[in-house]
Amino acid sequence: MHELGIVEDLLEDAREAMRTQGVATVDGIRAELGDLSNLSREALETAFRVVARGSEFADAALEIVDVPGRLRCDPCDVEGSPAEFGFDEARPPPPWLCPACGYFLRAIEGQGVRFAGLLAHDSSAVEVNVR
Ligand SMILES: [Zn+2]
Repeated sequence: MHELGIVEDLLEDAREAMRTQGVATVDGIRAELGDLSNLSREALETAFRVVARGSEFADAALEIVDVPGRLRCDPCDVEGSPAEFGFDEARPPPPWLCPACGYFLRAIEGQGVRFAGLLAHDSSAVEVNVR
């Protein structure tokens, strides 16, 4: 499964952040999920439970933050949200074609999954953000 690798990368980033920040345990991990990634929240959550099992993240929560998609047409030199390009859905499936010139649009935001921070165990420090 493709999403298992994505979650393994996510947990690697989380471990790295914990090392860097000297945090021993966390309540959870925050991840950004792009609207233009071909991954659903459900698939990401399921993969997280599978990969986290038996690790230090077994009891950790996964907080998923949606990131809106943004597309760009190079020939027209125009960029905007999927809605601004006339797509009905916030998460239109590719290929995305420019309504003006028919060229393939490029996703410039809202792709893939990104580690976005640790949710700290200590209730006084509610979150430790890496950004
Ligand atoms: Zn165009």
